[in-house]
Amino acid sequence: MDTYRRAAVPPQKLYIGGTWQEAQGGTLDVVSPIDGQKLTTIESASAADVDRAVAAARAAFEDGRWSRMAPAARKKVLHRIADIIEREALALTVLGVRDNGTEIGMALKAEAGSAAGTFRYYAEAIDKVYGEIAPTAPDVLGLVHREAVGVVGAIVPWNFPLMIGAWKLAPALAAGNSVVLKPAETASLSLLRLAEICAEAGLPDGVLNVVTGEGRVTGESLALSMDVDVLVFTGSGATGRRLLEYSARSNLKRVYLELGGKSPNVVFADAPDLDQAAKVSAMGIFRNSGQVCVAGSRLLVERSIHDDFVALMAKHAKALKVGDPLDLSSQIGAVNSDTQLQGNLGFVADAVKEGGEIALGGSRILESSGGYYMEPTIVTGVRPDHQLAQREVFGPVLAVTPFETEEEAVQIANGTDYGLAAGVWTGNLSRAHRMIRDIRAGVVHVNTYGGADNTVPLGGVKQSGNGHDKSLHALDKYTDLKTAWIQL
Ligand code: ADP
Repeated sequence: MDTYRRAAVPPQKLYIGGTWQEAQGGTLDVVSPIDGQKLTTIESASAADVDRAVAAARAAFEDGRWSRMAPAARKKVLHRIADIIEREALALTVLGVRDNGTEIGMALKAEAGSAAGTFRYYAEAIDKVYGEIAPTAPDVLGLVHREAVGVVGAIVPWNFPLMIGAWKLAPALAAGNSVVLKPAETASLSLLRLAEICAEAGLPDGVLNVVTGEGRVTGESLALSMDVDVLVFTGSGATGRRLLEYSARSNLKRVYLELGGKSPNVVFADAPDLDQAAKVSAMGIFRNSGQVCVAGSRLLVERSIHDDFVALMAKHAKALKVGDPLDLSSQIGAVNSDTQLQGNLGFVADAVKEGGEIALGGSRILESSGGYYMEPTIVTGVRPDHQLAQREVFGPVLAVTPFETEEEAVQIANGTDYGLAAGVWTGNLSRAHRMIRDIRAGVVHVNTYGGADNTVPLGGVKQSGNGHDKSLHALDKYTDLKTAWIQL
């Protein structure tokens, strides 16, 4: 690992049509959140650069070099991508961690490990998902074809670039599309390396293009393109809103949004093992410094166990070692950027002004390292209408609110604009099912928090977005249905 962590990272380029190119828009510095030092530069793609990438993707799609390749051959390429990701897992993950700050223990599984698994999952789907013959009258034949949509634009965030990148790329490529990928400014490096891996695995030139740069320039140009058929996105609600506007102002491209959450984690007094519930719940909010879209950032706890449970949470949270994300003993790494860190601290200060009390943490730590580290923070006395109960922090900050009854728990749980994830801790099976039914969210965890695999979809309701990543349902975003109606 030491070799990888010290390796010089050369200035990066754009990957367009199978070649590495300079942007007309200049370069951006990449600063490592581990120590605040400059790591390298990435290109800042202008509208003209993005247009070239979209044109390369369109040309590749139209000539059929990938879209009409035999499914079994496409499947082999995706498996090879997974093989190389596994072979390179450590180097790839360390590169990503130097860029985005996630603790290496988690990143190895959640980034390289999960990306490889995702490519395999959709590789296997390629020759197993196909069209239908409709039960029509006997003198006609109704065929329902499932076709690739064409050019997919994918804009991804910085918290899990490889994992979320793979959630978009693998099903899009499996279905035969070409892709233009726009990584986040503060987490481009591992995705640029993934482009090289895809080429080595035999993905034809032009099928995957990577354009780096700022959201308001590069991302906006991609979203405004007249030749992108579908735009898939994971990121903030504010950007999601803009993408819908860009679609309306351009070619009405379909837009699928996986936005944030303010996910309730509801603990009832009848939970089977409160200590275990506290331990898992602490990881459910604090891993990756809280920079997880499904993070259980609101703890709703039955009043009779409130004080005891907060004490248990504080015990487990305090035991989590925050530090250099490339030190294997660190359980929590760095916050992604200084901007993000200042935002987190601002949320805590505002919460105190609104009447919240800091039960644990609240501050920046390890400042002398030059990096961006924050201690796990628990704020109690947060009322459902407080900002900390309503707005996504995307940092290691937990808001705690007591409740008296199941009905009140549901009401508070549903009382935000978001609907991405939730947790319920109870030993009562009927209550667990009632909560699953009544909480408006894309995923409800019961007696655990945060786990899932490729077999189940992930997507939000309300202002947490639309459409799903993962599972065979994700293919719906990347395919069109075409009917053939044939008179016999
Ligand atoms: P966060 O606040 O978590 O950084 P963002 O929504 O700002 O979330 O970023 C997620 C991704 O969206 C990044 O790749 C970013 O560059 C991109 N992005 C940000 N603003 C825009 C925009 N106006 N148009 C297109 N993409 C954008």
